[in-house]
Amino acid sequence: MSVLEIEELRTHFDTDRGVVKAVDGVDLTIEPGEIVGIAGESGSGKSVLAKSIMGLIDPPGEIRQGDIRLHGESLMAKSEKELREIRGKSVSIIFQNPMSTLNPTLTVGEQIAETIRFNSDGGESISLSAEMKRKILGSVKTSESWRRAIEMLESVRIPEPSSRVSNFPHQFSGGMRQRALIAMALSCEPDLIIADEPTTALDVTIEAQILAELQSLREAFDTSILLITHDLAVISEMCDTVNIMYAGEIVEKAPADRLFQSPQHPYTQALLSSMPSIDEPRADLEPISGSVPDLIDIQQACHFAPRCSEAKPECFEIDPEFRTVGDPTHTAACLRRGEEEKQ
Ligand code: SF4
Repeated sequence: MSVLEIEELRTHFDTDRGVVKAVDGVDLTIEPGEIVGIAGESGSGKSVLAKSIMGLIDPPGEIRQGDIRLHGESLMAKSEKELREIRGKSVSIIFQNPMSTLNPTLTVGEQIAETIRFNSDGGESISLSAEMKRKILGSVKTSESWRRAIEMLESVRIPEPSSRVSNFPHQFSGGMRQRALIAMALSCEPDLIIADEPTTALDVTIEAQILAELQSLREAFDTSILLITHDLAVISEMCDTVNIMYAGEIVEKAPADRLFQSPQHPYTQALLSSMPSIDEPRADLEPISGSVPDLIDIQQACHFAPRCSEAKPECFEIDPEFRTVGDPTHTAACLRRGEEEKQ
């Protein structure tokens, strides 16, 4: 059974200027142990999609339509308490900036131990000051959750984990903080990790280490990973399957090898032409003209049409369906590509 299935998901935001259709009809499936990538420019809706899966959309945002199923069970009718239990136990998220996620007033070990306790207590968290939490957690440094926090730091290769566990986040380097977040995300052995731009704030050496870490953890724990990034190089290195997202919609999906060898959607092709290549380091890069459209009250048509060199008049009036392009595993939503999918 698939770990995650998303069907026709629409997450919209009511604003004074109109309805922002941040995610508008997304379908996605993740199998056990699979790494699925979502790539696209800033403003394409990637992070809103991640928050929708986690049940973290705040008003005026709202999931207007669609279904999100975890192991076949719909999350749409779950209460906030039930969703809290799912977050951490079954699904964890790693955000881009560890400093905004980690609590600066608690040690790394205290935070990992609290996450473990929170989930083993059925999601009943303690809402206390850092000082009170320290008193409680500090008194359990011989506890199972503390021992496990050290183990988790070791598993993400933090040096000297039994002493580092007592460090505060500011005593860790950027790479170590991101590893600590991964340790926290993994501490409850979730079935799915959503990694939202997990390496964007890191230098390339640390980035490579973190990505290798995620890959080896997938192998060790058979965890599925949804990797969200604007960086196609990261996607090509890490992912089994790739979804290209543009203006709230997925426009192309395929196994990673196939997508990078034979991109079909004009947006994917433009995106790949705009990034540097190791094979042709001197080739001129071709930036995509224009910018991601305003998603307020965006029309039911091809959202890429104003920037597409192949656009024809129908592209401004018809919302393209997904079509297979050369292989049943490869689909693209473009009026000029492939054969329409049979329902
Ligand atoms: S549907 Fe038309 S505008 Fe959209 S990507 Fe295809 S050719 Fe370009």
